[in-house]
Amino acid sequence: MNMANLTFHERVSDALANPAAHQAVGRGARKFTANRAQAVANFPQMDALRDRARLIRAHTLSKLDVFLAEFADNVEANGGCVFWAQNAADANDYVVKLAGAGDVRQVVKSKSMVTEEIELNHALEAAGVQVVESDLGEFIIQLAGEKPSHIIAPVLHKTRAQVGELFQEKLNTPYTDDPFALNDIARAHLRDIFLSADMGISGVNFGVAESGTLSLVTNEGNGRFCTTTPRIHVALMGMERLVPTLADLATMLPVLEISATGQGLTVYNNLITGPRRPGEPDGPEELHVVILDNGRSDALATEVAEILYCIRCGACMNICPVYRSIGGHAYGSVYPGPLGSVVTPALMGLDQWHQLPHASTLCGACKDICPVRIDIPRLLLQLRDASSRADHSPAWLKTGMRIYGTIAQRPGLFRLGMRIGSVATRLLAKKGWLNTLPPPLNGWTDHRAFHALAKKSFRQLWTERKTTEHPL
Ligand code: SF4
Repeated sequence: MNMANLTFHERVSDALANPAAHQAVGRGARKFTANRAQAVANFPQMDALRDRARLIRAHTLSKLDVFLAEFADNVEANGGCVFWAQNAADANDYVVKLAGAGDVRQVVKSKSMVTEEIELNHALEAAGVQVVESDLGEFIIQLAGEKPSHIIAPVLHKTRAQVGELFQEKLNTPYTDDPFALNDIARAHLRDIFLSADMGISGVNFGVAESGTLSLVTNEGNGRFCTTTPRIHVALMGMERLVPTLADLATMLPVLEISATGQGLTVYNNLITGPRRPGEPDGPEELHVVILDNGRSDALATEVAEILYCIRCGACMNICPVYRSIGGHAYGSVYPGPLGSVVTPALMGLDQWHQLPHASTLCGACKDICPVRIDIPRLLLQLRDASSRADHSPAWLKTGMRIYGTIAQRPGLFRLGMRIGSVATRLLAKKGWLNTLPPPLNGWTDHRAFHALAKKSFRQLWTERKTTEHPL
């Protein structure tokens, strides 16, 4: 099914009707959250480091133009090339032309959400260049013809059995659901591609302004293969992903890594400062750094600019009850979960993505867990407000809110409405629950029951308590 052709509500219904994906996402997300909690418990400095990480992000974004210029100068001084891409088309065009000029036939990629954001694979493939994803999760997603459902675990929605069936079908290998055997199959398939690819493409976790260094963290050796073996390395970086100094990077890396997977340190921490120098035995001949704007500088000037502090750890997704229920694909954006519900409309426009800020219970778990303490619930409310002002609410909701506003301003009418609602819902309920409600309220009961209103309202209970327990 092509999820892109579905509406937001259709994607959500589709996700809720897929119990295998639902269970896989819930299981994986809970495991990540538990691993993080354990790692935080073992690392008492974490809270202080989070405060420092937030200050670093705030400081970097407050002088982003200065740090970007310093970073670009240093990349070039190290022998690399810098390209400023205003939007996705600019970035794709640059990489496609680079591939053409270098007679590149095959590209090998390590995981990069920015390349997903701009759909770089499509652009290269349209130009006749074969692109192979080398991160295991991305490799599986590419074989399945799907999109990632999580920013650090792209294949979170699939079970081992589904991966075994996919490998059997696409790679002609005997069926197995043993993770080690599946890993070996992928490794054997990818090894020759690493050696024959002409161009390696990666993302950038952090660019260090003072040295022009690219920091890349991965748990698989594929990242190093992509950045060292092919003769051309292209690194794509969102323009906000900078830190001023290497000392700042030393703060950000443990904060990112503990929050993302619960590891004290990710397996491969790579620092790349320029292409291969004369006399060095390995490394690419050319290094190109594409710095992508694609809506970021506009977002920086809005009231949701704080979302650009994000370091893409995925912790807010793992803990979000909505993400755990519907998975990443239902959001329709490469950035799902609480992060995606803010960053997607911030970068790509509220007109197309105005439903995402509503995909939240506003429970606040995302704010509590965010390593750089982004106040995601506040940003979601600001986007909801902007969406309502831009007249994106459906007519039934606007009429309903107008009626509610009229009633809520008249206490007598409000009390009468609550009494009628209480009697009616209790009459219709079975064992205190309503399993169906008429349209448009059926959106609630399509997937869960609605509790009948209480016999006594909070206000009645409060008045009674005041008169019996604390009589004047
Ligand atoms: S918003 Fe915070 S928790 Fe969510 S991915 Fe970004 S840094 Fe991580």
